[in-house]
Amino acid sequence: YTSTTPTPVSTVSRYACQRRTTTKNNNKIFTDAFEVLAESHEFNDMEGPCLAFRRAASVLKSLPWTVQNLRVTEDLPCLGEHTMCVIKEILQHGRSFEVEKILSNERYQILKLFTSVFGVGPKTAEKWYRRGLRSFSDVLAEPGIHLNRMQQSGFLHYGDISRAVSKAEAQALGNIIDEAVRAITPDAVLTLTGGFRRGKDFGHDVDFIVTTPQLGKEERLLTSVIDRLKQQGILLYCEYQASTFDESKLPNHRFEAMDHFAKCFLILRLEDSQVEGGLQTAEENRRSWRAVRVDLVSPPVDRYAFTLLGWSGSRFERDLRRFARMERRMLLDNHALYDKTKKEFLAATTEKDIFTHLGLEYIEPWQRNA
Ligand code: ATP
Ligand code: MN
Ligand code: MN
Repeated sequence: YTSTTPTPVSTVSRYACQRRTTTKNNNKIFTDAFEVLAESHEFNDMEGPCLAFRRAASVLKSLPWTVQNLRVTEDLPCLGEHTMCVIKEILQHGRSFEVEKILSNERYQILKLFTSVFGVGPKTAEKWYRRGLRSFSDVLAEPGIHLNRMQQSGFLHYGDISRAVSKAEAQALGNIIDEAVRAITPDAVLTLTGGFRRGKDFGHDVDFIVTTPQLGKEERLLTSVIDRLKQQGILLYCEYQASTFDESKLPNHRFEAMDHFAKCFLILRLEDSQVEGGLQTAEENRRSWRAVRVDLVSPPVDRYAFTLLGWSGSRFERDLRRFARMERRMLLDNHALYDKTKKEFLAATTEKDIFTHLGLEYIEPWQRNA
């Protein structure tokens, strides 16, 4: 046993919420391959292997060093036989033939293309594929295909919303939302969340949480914000979901379960002049604006910490729920934390409170890129 192992790998937890993962990925060559494999299994409705590849990718993302031989991976958690084979292939040949085979597979390519449209999930993509549709023009020309409102705007703004959103653009949207929120409720609190809160330089959308110090005052806030954005002529698409939150219900640990707070999924029109340094692509497009996806969620202030933690996203948040359930007999979701042993809800005003309840070391948002 030579001393080439950079850190004692035995200390890597199998829960992402016990690992620190920055945006610097030292093992991108492996994690990109795992993501293709995960996605391909997702397209084939194989949840188990899909999750296994995502967990393996998450472990490698947390390492402050690059995997250079198979031996160092032996002490790492969540790496099964299949993932080890892929790592071995990449170490030996610089690439994985299994992954390349998937990438050149027509069905994979088409499902990937279809699911890149806002509002189109794997099920719809699969349905279109089985009908023999192979391109966007096939879909749009096919008689009897009904596109919902979300998918219609997905196609309409496809170019813009499939282009990454920059930090400067996120900042500009923050100013716009902040102004709208403040015009309605001056003491409202607006927080940037999602990938940008984790310190990412680019995102597929911009996520915000908005709440009011006065409990209950948040209830009508989102609809007023939406009305205002509409009046300003910058609302290109809006799906609003009213709150169905019931505080007597126990938290639901299933990560597929979305939260019940009032929220909206938007497409906004962002002007070049509103962005510091300008829109990234304004010049080549010769357009003075772009469409951007924005999500807003509005929890009551006493649930703010849970929502912030949940909406900060990534595998980190999913593993927090799993950790709570498996290791602490607690149920965590975006609304609350419930202790099954004590049979009581545990209150929190900050994210730190939640980590403390769970007996976990606090991990900063920028270390949650699991
Ligand atoms: P990206 O930079 O690609 O946007 P992200 O981490 O911000 O990455 P999102 O898809 O924006 O990814 O999701 C961020 C978080 O928002 C998720 O982890 C989830 O908790 C929350 N979220 C997203 N959609 C919903 C929804 N429909 N209901 C409840 N929560 C949601
Ligand atoms: Mn996001
Ligand atoms: Mn989002």
